Amino acid sequence: MAIKTFEPLATLYNAMDKTWNKIAAGYHFKCSGCEDNCCKSLFFHHTYIEKAYLIHGFNTLDQDRKKKILAKAKKYCGKIFSQSSEIKSLKIYCPVIENDRCLLYLYRPMICRLHGLPHELSRPGLNPVKGAGCDAGLFDDKTYIKFDRTPFYQQMAQIELAFRQDLNKSVKIKETVAQMLLSQ
Ligand code: SF4
Repeated sequence: MAIKTFEPLATLYNAMDKTWNKIAAGYHFKCSGCEDNCCKSLFFHHTYIEKAYLIHGFNTLDQDRKKKILAKAKKYCGKIFSQSSEIKSLKIYCPVIENDRCLLYLYRPMICRLHGLPHELSRPGLNPVKGAGCDAGLFDDKTYIKFDRTPFYQQMAQIELAFRQDLNKSVKIKETVAQMLLSQ
């Protein structure tokens, strides 16, 4: 897939990162890794464009790394999706982590980028829904700095819509990073 396809997404990611960094700085918050690491969260992603970009990033890695990641992704899915009861987080690392580093950091999906800070999200006709920040930030003791995710979600929806139309995709998607990499 041509890199140009991903330009609107890369621009949006850049805007998200800038906003996140600005607000984190306002809290004097620096993510330096913690026990409750967000890369152990069970995140599902819902966009084909993000999946395609993640895979594009994956394909920049060397064969050895790719093999290792895919082996970890298989193990990850084996554990998470063999649960007999409702699927829940088992707090195991995303298969893309190596030595506490995300090997696909530049290509990581939206939720990986927006996680951690207290935020809000508005839906038409409803009151904004507020979300808490991560425990490491001790945000309950701090004055809320407005972080509205709504415009980011809206822009993502537009980019995704155009991408789906181009590729004629209509089926919904709900996949973890591990699933995305295994189903490429
Ligand atoms: S893609 Fe990267 S940032 Fe997102 S959960 Fe996996 S390792 Fe963490």
